[in-house]
Amino acid sequence: MEFIPIRSYDSYVKANLVIAKLQEQDIHCYLKDENITTILPILGNSIGGIKICVAENDITKAKELLNQFEEDEKITCSKCGSKNVHYEVENGNVSNWLLAIASWFLASYALKGKEVYHCYTCDYKFDKLEDNESL
Ligand SMILES: [Zn+2]
Repeated sequence: MEFIPIRSYDSYVKANLVIAKLQEQDIHCYLKDENITTILPILGNSIGGIKICVAENDITKAKELLNQFEEDEKITCSKCGSKNVHYEVENGNVSNWLLAIASWFLASYALKGKEVYHCYTCDYKFDKLEDNESL
């Protein structure tokens, strides 16, 4: 049986969560290069990260499941219901400008700006998820 890599991850936590979900659905798969990427993360990019390798005859079902998992993880806009929502540093915020100037004066201290969820469908910005959302 031949195993083919279908996704790669730079986080072993994410890779293990995904492979556990696939194995729950009786997909034959394993993680390749998990140890080297975890022990020496600097090599992760050069070897392509942690790869999920799936048995040849389970490829179609595994890809469908992965697409479904990724769709389920997307955050829904509480105003319009769109899934075109991204987590980002808020642009044009006065306090973020002050942080940027302070970071420049402090040279090596990078200060984090305010981050929000931004819906690109209706342009709504929110900083908290609804209680029924799961990540
Ligand atoms: Zn929206």
